[in-house]
Amino acid sequence: MFIGHFAIAFGAKKIAPKVSLVTLIFAAQFLDFLWPALIYLGIEHVRIIPGITVMNPLDFYDYPYSHSLFMALIYSFCFGGIYFAVRRSVKEAWVLAVCVFSHWVLDLVTHRPDLPLAPGVNMVFGLGLWNNVSASVLVEVALYIVGVMLYLQATRAKKWTGTVSFWSLAMVLALGWVVNIFGPPLPDPKVLGAFGVVMSVITIFWAWWIESTRETLV
Ligand SMILES: [Zn+2]
Repeated sequence: MFIGHFAIAFGAKKIAPKVSLVTLIFAAQFLDFLWPALIYLGIEHVRIIPGITVMNPLDFYDYPYSHSLFMALIYSFCFGGIYFAVRRSVKEAWVLAVCVFSHWVLDLVTHRPDLPLAPGVNMVFGLGLWNNVSASVLVEVALYIVGVMLYLQATRAKKWTGTVSFWSLAMVLALGWVVNIFGPPLPDPKVLGAFGVVMSVITIFWAWWIESTRETLV
């Protein structure tokens, strides 16, 4: 899943309006911020096998540190715990922990059985929605629209820049997703990893721009 993870971050703003969109995106995308870095460093591995799922040619055959159930639970617990230690809000800490864990759940729905139970444990999960193009598109687009709508209900632009900042990211993410599905074949894993790291950093700065140009309504 791709834009579905951002949908969770956008939507969570409605439940935890005091939490910055930067933190919400960092939480919902935490596993996918780790993954390209670990791929680039050669700690985790991916290969491209056209047709491995109808929607996505990536064979995630080795990513236990970024995408195992066990590690996802650890990251969720740590993310929520650190937030609580700093901000002392139980509710917001829970929202962030759920955001981090939601990534694994959404990946579970879309991936073929490739999500490991824990590092070193040879047991994998995945419901394989990516093998059904129309269902994949429907689920992801529906999630994204709901997430964007909730975010727009929870915030408003301070001036025109707030409209530009949010809609530009929303459109770029949607476009990136479309290009990913219908666009040219993916580059080799190292390049993919480097590209992923750069995109993660850009997204975080973009979220910071959005946060500074919009205000929450609650
Ligand atoms: Zn992922």
